[in-house]
Amino acid sequence: MITSKLEFSARDYQFQSYVDAQNWIGGEWTPSASGTQKAVYNPRHGEAMGSVFFSDESDVNAAYQAAARAQISWAQLPIRERAQVLFRLKFLMEQNLAELSWLLSHENGKTFSQAKAEVLKGIECVEMGVSLQNMADGGQLDVSRGVNCRLIHEPLGVVAGVTPFNFPTMVPLWMLPQALVAGNSFILKPSERTPYGAMKLAELLKEAGLPDGVFNIVNGGKEAVQALAAHQKIGALAFVGSTPVARLVYKQGSKTGKKMVCLGGAKNHLVVVPDADRELTSDNVVASFTGCAGQRCMAAAVLLAVGDTQSIIDDITAKTRELVPGVDIGPIVTPESRERILGFIDGAEALGFDILVDGRGAKVEGYPGWWVGPTIIDRVEPGSPCATEEIFGPVLSILRVDTLEDAIAIENASPFGNAAAIYTSSGDIAERAVRSFEAGMCGVNIGVPVPREPFAFGGWNHSKFGHGDMTGWDGFTFWTRPRKVTTKWALQSDQTWMS
Ligand code: NAD
Repeated sequence: MITSKLEFSARDYQFQSYVDAQNWIGGEWTPSASGTQKAVYNPRHGEAMGSVFFSDESDVNAAYQAAARAQISWAQLPIRERAQVLFRLKFLMEQNLAELSWLLSHENGKTFSQAKAEVLKGIECVEMGVSLQNMADGGQLDVSRGVNCRLIHEPLGVVAGVTPFNFPTMVPLWMLPQALVAGNSFILKPSERTPYGAMKLAELLKEAGLPDGVFNIVNGGKEAVQALAAHQKIGALAFVGSTPVARLVYKQGSKTGKKMVCLGGAKNHLVVVPDADRELTSDNVVASFTGCAGQRCMAAAVLLAVGDTQSIIDDITAKTRELVPGVDIGPIVTPESRERILGFIDGAEALGFDILVDGRGAKVEGYPGWWVGPTIIDRVEPGSPCATEEIFGPVLSILRVDTLEDAIAIENASPFGNAAAIYTSSGDIAERAVRSFEAGMCGVNIGVPVPREPFAFGGWNHSKFGHGDMTGWDGFTFWTRPRKVTTKWALQSDQTWMS
């Protein structure tokens, strides 16, 4: 049992071990019932920094009991009082920014500045929760003589979230602010590879005044997820992860009738036309495919180069060569993921595509972790594995096409639909491209078109299963159910068809 306050004191990349990731149930750290543990690795060092407990149905039931007990009085508080907890969380996250960011960097591998950007984006999501106290009225209208209808956003009760390894702090915060401010209590199952960001959030939420049991964590893997999805009384489940698992969890959860939104994987296409600004485009494309070592669902994966865009490709190549693994780009999360990425590059080489920049030999002095340097593969054929499959590493596949229509046809043929972007100086081309993409999040001269609050986040097609989006206002409607109240105070003599 962890008894003292969690603190992570590293303020640089030197290896530091950390606590075992226990479950957070009813405001206390507790080992899972089975006691099974697996290592949590620091990918920069390739060394275990701690371990994580694996939970089963009995742990999920214990979390549910604590959450259900706490939810009753939490939901009775006025929304303004619930939002104050989030307000204090924002302050505490700002106060603990360095610790939160270093912890993230150690468990996930991303550079400190990328980790800090993640925490800051998480804080922005918290701000959305805070603003709900002024935004979340349902509306009302006199619909007939003396008859009024009003809408109330009611909580669902106990709800749950399952999150991936690549944004251990931000993705839980895509869900928590709206769900908690709406009056739900929450059970989170973080990635077993990166459980620490959520643990720190649990402590900060408690410090911010969240009553015990309103937020709970069950750690572990698929057994815990299946128990959450199958639970008859959990009212909603949001999932973020790879497409095969998103599809599976969506099917499992939907059988119980709970609300489900499951965000999946991606293969994002960036289209560059000859009139694109060279400097802006090359900077932006490089940042998009190398940021967080390409382990982002919004990362550029395919560059569709239309016509003569050679000078832009040259710039992209030159800027990519300047990036230093270990400084500008972090490691890959596991040795298995690294091997998988290398397999795609080897496969592309075997197919005869040009490897313009080759990150396969990347090494970083003093850090024996799992490195892949930024890689660019040119003259890739449509339909080949590196053109169609999610690689989830710092790899850009360039496909040369003759026309904008050819580019859009390739983008449209992808089963994914998370993000797509166009680089151009023409409003007409931009509008035509954006309106033709099969993607839920589109960019114009922006390679990571993440909608910022209060706009909601979510892709299309195989990048999302379920209805509605996450974050923003859509997040609030997902975590609530609408109650319609019709009131009649008119005199009986004043009759209408509704009498
Ligand atoms: P993952 O699918 O392996 O794991 C996600 C979560 O599902 C984890 O909590 C994991 O424990 C759990 N899980 C794994 N296998 C399971 C199974 N068989 N049954 C039930 N639960 C299971 O994903 P990951 O490797 O952690 O994250 C990377 C993936 O997430 C990429 O595909 C990326 O594109 C995607 N992602 C998508 C978004 C988005 O917004 N669409 C955002 C971030 C990441």
